[in-house]
Amino acid sequence: MPFDLKASRFAGCLLGLAVGDALGMPLEGMRATSIRNRVGRVRDFLDAPWRMLRAGQWTDDTKMMLCHARSIAGRGRVDVHDTAREFLAWFKSGDWRGIGGSTYEAMQRLLAGVPPEESGAKGEMAAGNGVAMRIAPVGLIDCLDLAALHEDARAVAVITHDNPEAVAGGRAVAFAVARAARGDLDPATLVDETVAFVGPCELAGRLLLAGRFLAGKMEPAEALARLGTGGYVVETVASAFFCFLRTPRDFEETVSRAVEGGLDTDTTGAVAGAISGAFNGLEGIPARWREGVEAAGEILALAERIHALAASRQ
Ligand SMILES: [Mg+2]
Repeated sequence: MPFDLKASRFAGCLLGLAVGDALGMPLEGMRATSIRNRVGRVRDFLDAPWRMLRAGQWTDDTKMMLCHARSIAGRGRVDVHDTAREFLAWFKSGDWRGIGGSTYEAMQRLLAGVPPEESGAKGEMAAGNGVAMRIAPVGLIDCLDLAALHEDARAVAVITHDNPEAVAGGRAVAFAVARAARGDLDPATLVDETVAFVGPCELAGRLLLAGRFLAGKMEPAEALARLGTGGYVVETVASAFFCFLRTPRDFEETVSRAVEGGLDTDTTGAVAGAISGAFNGLEGIPARWREGVEAAGEILALAERIHALAASRQ
């Protein structure tokens, strides 16, 4: 079956990721109750002078997504060694914006000459969000070939996170992005299909729990408190899926709720924003966010290039 690959979905995905990251940026580390008390509903970008970042600027999630996007745009496909070169170029720039521990360790190993197949952090501390938050461009370029996506997601994940849950988190987000980008994501079946795609793991169980919370119409604050929104990929991806599937046609509500869950706000926002943006297209993102987010022009140009590459594979 030929798919109708709409450029707007590719643009919505990458810009949606940046928007979610930027919305969560000033709130990173805060508890949900503090956000409720101090900010209320999160509807606008905010300055974060203590991070030396202004309203609309984003963090390492988008920095690393752009590494994937530039590599794919330049090479025409997922290339592990070229992706690692992009990561290193970002690392050497010093503009880290909240780099994660596993990624920092992996960059040190790459700098020391360890090949990208072996540079990833191992052990349970490597089950962080560093893959899920950045993987969206891989879902876009491989959207017509889910077997290639399964392997490519693993191959780029282990550059930094050689951990089965981190790999599963990357695969889950890339899968949802791919299905949305090619226009056959069904919110009613996404959880079960994603669970089948990633196979048995902690994340699969947490996604099924998110599905049960959705079926029971649980309020987002309670669901996210139970699913978790911390630095553990199992929590963040399940919470982002919950927020998307609760309001699949409403990008603003999805991303706001994701950020309001607290703790790793920028990453929950980035993951929810990438999936919802791919599903709803660029026009689904509120204009004030599209216009206020950092480097929108560069992000949209990369999305256009990746769309042309993916469409040429059909
Ligand atoms: Mg971040």
